[in-house]
Amino acid sequence: MVPLTESAIRASFVNCSKGEAKRLAVPRDLDAQPWTDLDFFGWHDPAAAQRAYLVAESASGLVGVALRVAPHTGHARRSMCSLCLTTHTGDGVSLMTARKAGPSGRHGNSVGAYICTDLACSLYLRGRKDAGRRIEESLTLAEKVERTRNNLLGFLANVAG
Ligand SMILES: [Zn+2]
Repeated sequence: MVPLTESAIRASFVNCSKGEAKRLAVPRDLDAQPWTDLDFFGWHDPAAAQRAYLVAESASGLVGVALRVAPHTGHARRSMCSLCLTTHTGDGVSLMTARKAGPSGRHGNSVGAYICTDLACSLYLRGRKDAGRRIEESLTLAEKVERTRNNLLGFLANVAG
């Protein structure tokens, strides 16, 4: 993806207030991110592990979503990211919940998805990060990236809708 600036990131959020978007923790090392290998940009608030954020390019421009990360129950089990379909053990996948955009969100509605806890789906797909085991598939990288992107756009559409 195209490298993002802090102001572009802050302006992209669809499911939090302008004040929240202004205050939320954007990584300082934006220059050091592996942008060419990223299908979306995701990170955690270093001061609050339950807060995560995700910014992606969509047909209507950049879309940023604030996420709440559900705490782990402690027992290790195998689970799969609903975006990139990477399988992790233990706490490698987390349930992340996004408040819906607009009035629906203000009425308390949210959507959840199981996502790689470190939001590094793009790097797992490209083999730059190892989750221990991937299901062998005959898809090319381009096809896996396309599938991940479609899954992500579906999630973003649910947040927006
Ligand atoms: Zn993933």
